[in-house]
Amino acid sequence: MATPSAPEHYVGRLDSELPSPCFVVDVARVRANCARVHRVAAEQRLGLRPHVKTHKTVEAARLQTAHAARGEAKIVVSTLAEAEFFADNSFGDILYGVPLEPSKLARAWALHCRLPAFHVMLDSVEALDALAAHAKQAVATLADQASDEYLQAARRVSVFVAVDCGYHREGVQPGTEEARAVVRAVVGGRHTRLAGLYSHSGNSYNCGEAGCAPEQARAGAAAVACAERDAMLAFAASLRLEDGVEVPVVSIGATPSASSCIQWDGGGGRPGAPSVELHPGNYAFFDRQQVASGSCGLDDVAVYVVARVVGRYPATNSLLVDAGGCALHKDTGGLPDWASVMGHPSLTVTKLTQEVGTVTTRDGSLLDDSRFPLGAVLRLVPNHACMTAAGHPHYFVVDSEAGGARGAVVGAAGGDDRAAHQAEFVVATGDGMPGSVGPRVSEGPRVPAAAGGAAAPAAEGRRVVAVWRPVKFW
Ligand code: PLP
Repeated sequence: MATPSAPEHYVGRLDSELPSPCFVVDVARVRANCARVHRVAAEQRLGLRPHVKTHKTVEAARLQTAHAARGEAKIVVSTLAEAEFFADNSFGDILYGVPLEPSKLARAWALHCRLPAFHVMLDSVEALDALAAHAKQAVATLADQASDEYLQAARRVSVFVAVDCGYHREGVQPGTEEARAVVRAVVGGRHTRLAGLYSHSGNSYNCGEAGCAPEQARAGAAAVACAERDAMLAFAASLRLEDGVEVPVVSIGATPSASSCIQWDGGGGRPGAPSVELHPGNYAFFDRQQVASGSCGLDDVAVYVVARVVGRYPATNSLLVDAGGCALHKDTGGLPDWASVMGHPSLTVTKLTQEVGTVTTRDGSLLDDSRFPLGAVLRLVPNHACMTAAGHPHYFVVDSEAGGARGAVVGAAGGDDRAAHQAEFVVATGDGMPGSVGPRVSEGPRVPAAAGGAAAPAAEGRRVVAVWRPVKFW
């Protein structure tokens, strides 16, 4: 039986009753966000290897891979702890999507030995040499050459070569002699085989001018996506022609580029061309940064932080809430403020210190603090969901589709506050944030107001249906 301090104690309660600050995921939106990417992949006959670092949970990873037959789900992870966690939870095809360095070889090797398909990523002959030396020694220590253990270990290690298509973080420069040398060394190595080429298009974020319309940002993301696709397919084609290397897969795309509606195969279906695989990750949750990048609308964002008012300051026209940098994270994602406030489009979070945040009006107008007594619940939409989620040991899960109608909100609001509370569960449009998309219709219906109709913030919200626990770091 769950104790009051255990998160499970809150299953069945309303999000407005949760201890604050805490992280909430609307699983209905996660489902819809994943289904959209599944449709793109199916319509264009693309492979899909979603990144799971945004949420680091089995539950969301299962939704991201719901398109795949049992046992065939492919994922990318960003830490070896994630790889081990997902391997423990029946994921059999995992790419560790960070360039490999020597201190991680032992753990990576263990994953190679235990999984049907474990892939590493690298971008230098130096890393490849270290991998080859480790493999040689590890295989040599297995004496019984007929054993399953030996046969599993002795398989060639599957390697994606990281390619830099413009983000300038990791990867070889496509088409250069240095890049070809790395690929040739992987193909020619006794202990390695080429899984494919991998590029992360982090440069598809915030493509428009600061504060531009989402359509402009989206067009920019589409241009980055096309350039990445073309660079990867051209590199693969030149490897085939000039080095006789067949590239099985090119793995591309981040959330903004994958949301940009381009045709991804770009002729990749031609004989001899590699198959194209998408590997976005953030789209499972989305966030304000993605709205600004044109990837989604605010009402596609699946996550928020529940915070409470801990101070009211008419002299500075502000409220203080109990969610600061630790609960929201201080990644601006290129935005001028730290979070938007669901249902209160005129409000914004302008200052974060470790455990508290300052809320004020966007345009300097008077904040009606009579609407926000001490303890009032605010739902804050973060700029960068991956970083925000990483600060929370568990996520409270609500389901806005549960019970039939969209947004079945249990509430007691009435009177003049009804519209405001109705909007509480609309991730409102036009919140003054660059790139907000809208408008969308509000989410009803609500359970009728309690007798008397007085607003009772503590008695409204969405019901918690589950608790998800992410794997922790490293
Ligand atoms: N691949 C790599 C190597 C990444 O680092 C990331 C995200 O940081 C992704 C894929 C997924 O990108 P996004 O979160 O934009 O969908």
